[in-house]
Order: sequence, then C-alpha cells, then structure tokens
Amino acid sequence: MRNLILVLGDQLSLDNAALSGIDRKQDCIVMIEAAGEATHVWSHQARITLFLSAMRHFAELLRAQDLPLLYVALQPAANGEHGLGAQLHKLLGEHQPSRVIVCEPGEHRVLELVTAACRDAAVALEIRPDTHFLCSRQEFAAWAEGRNELRMEFFYRQMRRRHAVLMENGEPAGGRWNFDAENRGSFAKTGPGALPQPPQFAPDPVTREVMALVRQRFAGHPGSLEEFHWPVTRTDALRALADFVEHRLPTFGLYQDAMWTGMPFGWHSLLSAVLNLKLLNPREVIAAATAAWRDGRAPLAGVEGFVRQILGWREFIRGVYWLDMPGMLAANHFDHQRPLPAWYWTGDTTMNCLREAITQTLRHGYAHHIQRLMVTGNFALLAGIAPKAVHEWYLAVYVDAVEWAELPNTAGMALYANGGRFTSKPYVASGAYIQRMSNYCGNCRYDPKIKTGPRACPYTTLYWNFLDRHEPALRRNPRTALMARNIARLSAAERGAIRAAAGNILATIA
Ligand SMILES: Cc1cc2nc3c(=O)[nH]c(=O)nc-3n(C[C@H](O)[C@H](O)[C@H](O)COP(=O)(O)OP(=O)(O)OC[C@H]3O[C@@H](n4cnc5c(N)ncnc54)[C@H](O)[C@@H]3O)c2cc1C
Ligand code: SF4
Repeated sequence: MRNLILVLGDQLSLDNAALSGIDRKQDCIVMIEAAGEATHVWSHQARITLFLSAMRHFAELLRAQDLPLLYVALQPAANGEHGLGAQLHKLLGEHQPSRVIVCEPGEHRVLELVTAACRDAAVALEIRPDTHFLCSRQEFAAWAEGRNELRMEFFYRQMRRRHAVLMENGEPAGGRWNFDAENRGSFAKTGPGALPQPPQFAPDPVTREVMALVRQRFAGHPGSLEEFHWPVTRTDALRALADFVEHRLPTFGLYQDAMWTGMPFGWHSLLSAVLNLKLLNPREVIAAATAAWRDGRAPLAGVEGFVRQILGWREFIRGVYWLDMPGMLAANHFDHQRPLPAWYWTGDTTMNCLREAITQTLRHGYAHHIQRLMVTGNFALLAGIAPKAVHEWYLAVYVDAVEWAELPNTAGMALYANGGRFTSKPYVASGAYIQRMSNYCGNCRYDPKIKTGPRACPYTTLYWNFLDRHEPALRRNPRTALMARNIARLSAAERGAIRAAAGNILATIA
C-alpha cells in the first residue's frame, strides 16, 4: 500500500480533500467504526446510529465508484481495541503504508489520536486542509490576529464581502447587514398554528441493521431510536435542503427563537447533522437559500438570518475552536464545580421548560438553538454546573454534535466559561425570557415572575442570585450595567431572601 487514505466518520464527501489524487491501484481508503467514538461521551443512540449509518452508506458510494476501500466494521465488544487510535495503529502495522493522508480532523482529540498512531508506527502523515469550510483555519487565525475581541458580526461581514453573498454593488442587499430586529418573534397566545412538517426519512435496511446493532451494543446509552428519521445519504440530505428552502425558509427568521410545547422543530432547517457529516456543502446550502430570495420565494430578512447562521456562526465557531484548543476544554471562568443533575439525562424534573427541551432531545436527538442556549444552557450557567460536565452532555445528546461546533457554543456562548472571548456578556435570563418566547410557563408549577417562595421559578431565583453574586463585574461591563443597577435596587433583606432561596434550589437540583 502506498497511501492509506483515512476517511473519518464526519468526512463523508467525495470532495474530501484526502481523496484528491487517489491512485486506485496503489492507495487504499480506510474507514473505521470505532466503539470508542460512541463511548468517549455517553452518546445518544440516535447520534451513534446517524454516524454509523451515514458511514456505511458512504462506503457503498465509494464501492460503487470502484474506489479501493478497507472498511472496518464495529468490532464485537469482546475483541478489545475499540479506540480509533489503537485500530489505526493496528492497521498501519498490518499494511505498512508509506504515508497516511487525512483531511484535517474536525476534533482536536481525533487529530491527536491520528498523529500519535502514525508517529508510533513511524508512518508519515499528511494532513490536508478541510475545504468543506469557506474559511480555513489559517484565514481565521489571520482575521483574529491582533483583535482584542472576537465578534462574529465583523467576521460575518467580511465573509459576506469575500464570498459575495447577499451583496449588491459592494453593499449588503437591502442596505443592512443584519435583519435581527425583524426575526425572532414569539407566537401569539394561540401558538404557531399549522406547521410545515419536515420530511421524514424512513430507515432503509442499512440503517435498520445499524439500529439493531446500536440497540444491542449500546443498550444503556441515553435516547431513543423510535423517532429516527434523519437523512443519512447525500441524496436524502439534498431532499432535506430542498424541502426546507421551499416550505420553512420563508418563515424561518420570524420564529427562529420561539418555543412551543409539542413543537420540536418549528421552521428550523434540521441541516446541522448532514452539514457536519459533510453530506452537504455549506456553499450549496447558502446558494439554495439566496436563490430563494432572488426568485421572490423567501423574504430577505429570513434568508439573511439563515445565511448568518451558516456563513457567519458556523464558520466563526469552527475558527474559534481551533484558535483556542485545547485550552477551551478546561475553561471555567466562574469556577463552577456543581455536578450535572441526573435529570439532564432523563427529563425527570418539575421545571416544565427543561422537561420539554430534554424530553424532545432524548426523543429526537434535537433541540433548536434557543432551547439549547436559553433553556438547558442558561440553567446550567445559573446553577453553576461544571463546564466540562455540561460539555460532555451537549456532545452526547444531539445528532449534530461534533466537538468543534459544540464546545465553543457550550463553553463560549452558553456558559461564558471562556470569560467572554467572543460574547460581550453572559447569556443569563430569568423565567420571564422563557415565558416571553414560549408557552412552557403556562403548564408549569412555578411562576416566572416570583423570585422566592414555593412557587418561585428556579430560573428567576437563580438569575437574581447570579446578579447578586456578580454585581461588581456586571457593573463594570456597559452591556450588563443595567443588570447591576437592577440588583442594587433590592433591599438587603430581599437579597438575603434570594440567596437563601437559591441555596435551597441548588441543594435539591442534583
Ligand atoms: C450549547 C449549544 C451546543 C450546540 N452544539 C452544536 C453542535 O454540536 N453541533 C452543531 O452543529 N451546532 C450546535 N449548536 C448550534 C445550534 O444550536 C445548532 O447548529 C442548531 O440548533 C441545529 O439545528 P438546525 O440545523 O435546525 O439549525 P438552524 O436553526 O436551521 O440553523 C441553520 C444552520 O446554521 C448552523 N448554525 C446555527 N447556529 C450555529 C451556531 N451557534 N454554531 C454553529 N453552527 C450554527 C447550523 O449548521 C445549522 O444547521 C449548539 C448550540 C448551543 C447553544
Ligand atoms: S416557570 Fe420557570 S421553570 Fe417553569 S417553565 Fe417557566 S421558566 Fe421554566
């Protein structure tokens, strides 16, 4: 074997840079189903199924192209050697290639595993830049160089200009970069009304076989496979994209942040998993959305809001991840040490918003951004849960979870664990925010307006407790000075009551 071309489980594209220039006679593509990748965090069964099924379908595609492939299926538990690094090392010994070629792994840990396996086997390693992303790691590092504050908005504008997305004569389409004010509405009391249902992709024989395997091999893992309808091939991913653009993009922006009981998906695209597996390319997603605006099929505000997520946030988050790893894993600005409450894995809590968000997560492997940020994330921050435990939960429970996307969102956005490296303030909110953006509070035993006493909403109590604890720091930051003024207005007795109520909640949440 001349080159061993390693294709990782989230690199399932024929455009994978590692495949370029492959010699069918001398090179061999290797794909490895490593149990360690399912157990290094306690992965949701749907997440494991999605990865394995998508890998097996991609392997079929490679075989159909007559490409040489060595596919290592999940080894029986008794066989040992379940880690990706150990399995790669074994293959290197068996096949003795002159070189391993791999496209940049998405995760720092995997990069280290692959590097160590090659070093230990004394095989040269060539790592090729991941051209899936519009911004390379080097470009992002150059953009970030010398900036005191990393702000997505400025990065996004540069990306819009550089890639000529939603631009007209050098100016942003519609004369504005940002249409946030027109996005992000909440529903009237009557709720969302009839919703366009996202397409469901019935599991085919390959997926059904993986589901049976996962049910047996990872029986103790969280989540259910009853509702597994995720796309696992490029063909289905393209169908999911077309369906989103036609049926949900026109209303996407308007209700981007809204939450409602029994509405797990809203108008969201549900494309994160297929994007992260590389079954879709962000360029084609952006092109489909902007074409819908140009053809008058979707309004500019919603399309801009969507493009901002893909061209802005997704690329920015990946850039920050590589800039700040491995330090980001240990970041703990507030020195929070509380363990993750066990009910994060079951949804068995009296707080209705959390019950809703977690139950749907376990059912579908999905919750939308605001459920992640302002329900599960906000609570974890207010309750002082250790960032590492929160990170391991987020990385485990979503079908789209990959560390480069998950960790900056968790440590940076949700928990402020990196001390505001790219956010201007902690995203904390009381129950009033959740009440405004959802109908969760109407079905809850607590009242979001009450700070203390038996009906006090834990978010509200813990929010005021957070202000109480961090008043000096909040006062120093112009973005949070109002919060500091609000807590300063309370009497010493009121503040004492909040502290006591927060202490009671924290003593009982685990
Ligand atoms: C604590 C936390 C953890 C998260 N973990 C992940 C994760 O592991 N993987 C992941 O892909 N996203 C993650 N996100 C970002 C975001 O919540 C999901 O991308 C989004 O909810 C996926 O649903 P969707 O495809 O319907 O997205 P839509 O709302 O339809 O958005 C469109 C696309 O934009 C991209 N996007 C939007 N926001 C972000 C963001 N903040 N960061 C990166 N990409 C973004 C996604 O690719 C998404 O598919 C996390 C957010 C938070 C707050
Ligand atoms: S009252 Fe508080 S705990 Fe209950 S749903 Fe509303 S925000 Fe959540």
